[in-house]
Amino acid sequence: MDQYADGHILSFWDCFGKKTEESKTWLLNILRKHGCKTVLDVACGPGTESEMLVEEGFTVLSSDASDVMITTAKKTRAARKEAIFSTWEIKLANWLTLPEDIQKPGEGFDAVICVGNSLPHLPFTDGPDRLQPYKVSLTNIISMVRPGGILIFDHRNFDCILETGKSMLNTVYRNTLTKRIELSIDYEKGVPQMIIMNYIFPPIGGQQQTRTFSIDFYPVLLNEFNQMLSTILGGTFQHSLYGDFKPYTPGDVHVKPGVFSHVVRV
Ligand code: SAH
Repeated sequence: MDQYADGHILSFWDCFGKKTEESKTWLLNILRKHGCKTVLDVACGPGTESEMLVEEGFTVLSSDASDVMITTAKKTRAARKEAIFSTWEIKLANWLTLPEDIQKPGEGFDAVICVGNSLPHLPFTDGPDRLQPYKVSLTNIISMVRPGGILIFDHRNFDCILETGKSMLNTVYRNTLTKRIELSIDYEKGVPQMIIMNYIFPPIGGQQQTRTFSIDFYPVLLNEFNQMLSTILGGTFQHSLYGDFKPYTPGDVHVKPGVFSHVVRV
């Protein structure tokens, strides 16, 4: 999260690229299929998904732990003069303290989304369970949805990244300008702790030099993510898994998606 605090990332934001039509259509279809009207976007950034959802008629509360992102999302809102944009609420909130930061309406929101490979920004702890912050965050995020509502999470395919030492460009997700991603992976006693991703962008303004933006991620494996959901939710939930927005069966060796999306109905 601290990586977002100084706002430096925003000067590269356009280079990361707008979300593709495929990813937007997928999200809208899932929300509509489940009859969702109210959406809590807990990693809104500058308003990427939220703005689109307001436009499409959803009632949206957007939150993020970064002041800079919240200020930028508010600017995104201010630039939209249509009446419907006055319904868009934006609030500073951290996943680690979500129930204190956000009051849920009645039994909860119809849908809660946490997308854009946001959860892997959570630093692991040094203690015996490195995934502890994930567990607290997932528990808090899940507590915001109403019974029968849905949650949408996504994360990069870290299984593949750790297996191959390479990262795909994810062009299914974003119309990115990234030329390539260089990785450096930190291991401790054989366990991957942190991945530094260096995004290489083309030069701008007649310059020769490519530009680099570095960001750290804390890689969670698909099995670990699934296991955390099962532990938090118990046996009574529906879980659909997508790889690059297509239904995905774990272990399928024929496809190597860049991003996994989890749709969970509680
Ligand atoms: N969903 C947007 C933004 C993704 S960037 C998109 O896809 O474009 C990831 C966002 O997660 C950042 O805005 C960052 O500030 C936020 N974030 C990281 N850690 C967080 C935490 N602990 N609580 C809330 N937001 C967090």
